[in-house]
Amino acid sequence: MEWKDALLDIIKDSGSRVRFGEPLAKHTYFGIGGEATAYIEVSTVSQLAALARFHRQWEVPVAIIGRGSNLLVSDTGFNGIGIRLVGELAKLQVDGNVVSVGAGLSLPRLSKTMSRQGLSGVEFALGIPGSVGGALIMNAGAWGSSFGDVVTDVTVMTDTGELVPLTHAEAEFEYRRSGLDAYFCVTGATLRLEPGDADTITARMQAFYKQKVETQPFAEENAGCMFKNPPGDSAGRLIDVSGLKGHRIGGAEVSTVHGNFILNIDNATAADVLDLVAYIQQQVREKTGISLQTEVKRLGFDD
Ligand SMILES: Cc1cc2nc3c(=O)[nH]c(=O)nc-3n(C[C@H](O)[C@H](O)[C@H](O)COP(=O)(O)OP(=O)(O)OC[C@H]3O[C@@H](n4cnc5c(N)ncnc54)[C@H](O)[C@@H]3O)c2cc1C
Repeated sequence: MEWKDALLDIIKDSGSRVRFGEPLAKHTYFGIGGEATAYIEVSTVSQLAALARFHRQWEVPVAIIGRGSNLLVSDTGFNGIGIRLVGELAKLQVDGNVVSVGAGLSLPRLSKTMSRQGLSGVEFALGIPGSVGGALIMNAGAWGSSFGDVVTDVTVMTDTGELVPLTHAEAEFEYRRSGLDAYFCVTGATLRLEPGDADTITARMQAFYKQKVETQPFAEENAGCMFKNPPGDSAGRLIDVSGLKGHRIGGAEVSTVHGNFILNIDNATAADVLDLVAYIQQQVREKTGISLQTEVKRLGFDD
């Protein structure tokens, strides 16, 4: 049996969907990237477990794709299966100030729902257009807060389909990274939030969002900050003082609003973006002596 037939067998008779030859540009905020051999929206834990075992048995590469807001997909696409978590894998349950979240849930939706319920701790996340899973993997954050700060434990799935609970310490949260990418998939987390006044929390969330919209580009396609901030400095500042704002290669341009954002302004290719990344790194190193490391993840490249 071909692996594609075996895949269809796994997801038949369910709320999950599979598409073959799916353009990943449709599933990334950059709007860039070729096709995935298959793209699945998986809606149950048991099917995700079956996909984990399938991945092992057939040795087909698999990538979990959250909202694609921190992802650059290669122009030749991904020779494997892209998986998005929906349905029971995107659920939200609130019990007092303890919140269980599925990895497929949208971060802005979590932020809005929590503020309405008078729970504080994720106000910073309204302007971060990722999923809970992506925020856990990246330890996404803004305004001095990071997602890991409110996480008490995380559930991951191994490539045998087993669910494993991890403590906060075992998740190894650091600045814009975690140890969670060692597993097949992150399926969810438990958060402990601070009870407070819903109006005050909502006002704080909206103030953060307003400040973000005023200082970062929101109209053009991009993947958020391209580079991690080096210790004690800001990548945006270094790019700015290196005179790179507005620099363009092909259809990719350094934002004139915030230097750490690369924009897809005119049908940019992944190659345009990577050429621009390399140029920025070389110029910043030459002018400031600092080596910038990328924050955006890559999919479908050889390295
Ligand atoms: C306009 C804009 C503003 C942004 N602002 C911020 C900001 O203020 N702060 C910030 O930290 N980030 C910011 N980002 C970047 C991005 O939103 C975050 O990194 C976010 O957490 C990524 O989530 P995602 O679901 O989109 O992940 P993706 O981009 O889909 O994936 C990122 C990585 O996580 C992996 N992954 C995703 N879900 C899972 C899962 N369930 N299990 C295993 N692996 C998984 C993917 O395989 C990939 O390696 C911004 C992006 C944009 C476009």
